[in-house]
Amino acid sequence: MAYRWETPASIWQEDETSGEFALLASEGLGPVDWHGRARQRLPDVAHVLGASLPLDCRCSPIYPEGFAYCPRCGRPLLRLGGAAARARGWWGPGGDDMLPRHVPHGLPVTSTPLGDSLEERPAAPTPGRCDLTMPAPPNACSVFAAAGFGFPGERLLALAHTRGVLQYWDPLGGSWHVLTPEAGAASLVFTASSHAWIPAQDPRRGEAGVVPGLDGLQRLWIDPVSETYRTESVLAAPIVAAPGLMRRHLACLAGGIDAVRLWSMRLDLDEVQEYACPDAPAAGWSHPLGYDGRLFWLHAQGQLTWRPGEAPQFSPWPLRWQPRLEFGGPTQSRDGRLWQIGHDGQGYSYLELGAGSDHLPARMAIDGARLGFANFLFRRGHPVLDEPWSNEHVEDPHHDDTLVLPLLRSFNNNRSQPSGLVLRFHKANFRAEEALGAGENARIIPRTTVEWIGRRNVILDEIARLSRPLECVPVVAGGCLWLHHPDWNQMRGWRLDEPL
Ligand SMILES: [Zn+2]
Repeated sequence: MAYRWETPASIWQEDETSGEFALLASEGLGPVDWHGRARQRLPDVAHVLGASLPLDCRCSPIYPEGFAYCPRCGRPLLRLGGAAARARGWWGPGGDDMLPRHVPHGLPVTSTPLGDSLEERPAAPTPGRCDLTMPAPPNACSVFAAAGFGFPGERLLALAHTRGVLQYWDPLGGSWHVLTPEAGAASLVFTASSHAWIPAQDPRRGEAGVVPGLDGLQRLWIDPVSETYRTESVLAAPIVAAPGLMRRHLACLAGGIDAVRLWSMRLDLDEVQEYACPDAPAAGWSHPLGYDGRLFWLHAQGQLTWRPGEAPQFSPWPLRWQPRLEFGGPTQSRDGRLWQIGHDGQGYSYLELGAGSDHLPARMAIDGARLGFANFLFRRGHPVLDEPWSNEHVEDPHHDDTLVLPLLRSFNNNRSQPSGLVLRFHKANFRAEEALGAGENARIIPRTTVEWIGRRNVILDEIARLSRPLECVPVVAGGCLWLHHPDWNQMRGWRLDEPL
């Protein structure tokens, strides 16, 4: 005999002989593989569903949502949160759409108040160490998203998009699980351009946002109980550049029969528009950014700008001027214009973005490379405040022989100087291009410190022999700031006091 229990979201079965509960079905999940996979991870499953766990009896290893007492022996149970996680979560360093409009969206800028916790640590030059580590995902070249995905508990996903492998972190079991595609799931491989993961607005259970894949844009659904995922096609076309959001419009570049097209959809109306972009290249685009009512995609050959309701515009860069996209991303001047750093064969300069066809973009010459984005800029080891082309601000002359690479800016309206996470390369008497180099140009940087630059500067950790620093990925998940690099076996984490 078996009893059936129904909770608002799930159906459970109680085995009369053993007294154990098994999940039969839950809203948003596919067929439940209870005796296969879920059994191995009961504490994790209970946290994801908001179910109950035994405290001091052994009648059943898990109980339905809302159970406060064991129905067999009457002892109290650990009742986990039942409401869906409310926090917006983490959708990659460029995935924060809660930023105010005057901050460019799509750059590594977060509205999560990281500084409040990190600045309580001993100030530089006291060396610091990470508080904890977690294993890197088995497919290490990944992008990360951490959110409730419509479930009560926050969980972390790592998507290895060059291989199309989706990985799920079980924080209680301390292990990564590769999610299996359900029959008919589309490929999640995306290699044409930089990846972007679009957050799910008001997610239903299992909904994990929109990602570009081999055959189009896919809405992703995860089932953390049976360790599977499925997809729902949002756009069936070869994706050329990752999607971005502007107001209520989702847009991306896709390959058409003749040429690249800009495809857009109004989220509230399901209304689709397409525009031909005959001159736009078919791969190699940056993560899109949203600013001033427009979306911008940058490419080694030019920029594509689009304002919803208007035709997109592709403008090649001026003759001989080459952008240095690897230096970070666009930054703003005090008058609110957006600028991209580049080199014209003679020297570096900032070029005005989105100037339009009616006037030539302005250009401001500078005397050396500057790394960063969104007003979080450094010339060698010193911050650049005021205008992007202003002289660097020398606070500490000891930083002359260092080179700072900003990774993540923490946006805070109450601060006059930008703060955030950086890597500092020591004894870096080489060019910025060399430090950032990939492939054959990759250089090994003997000593790097991970630093928080803010009201007080904090050395968070030290890294020996770092190469390809641009592959360092910051992640905020499980109440920690993490740093991941595909070469490392362990991700490094720093605890944040405030529950996020
Ligand atoms: Zn009991």
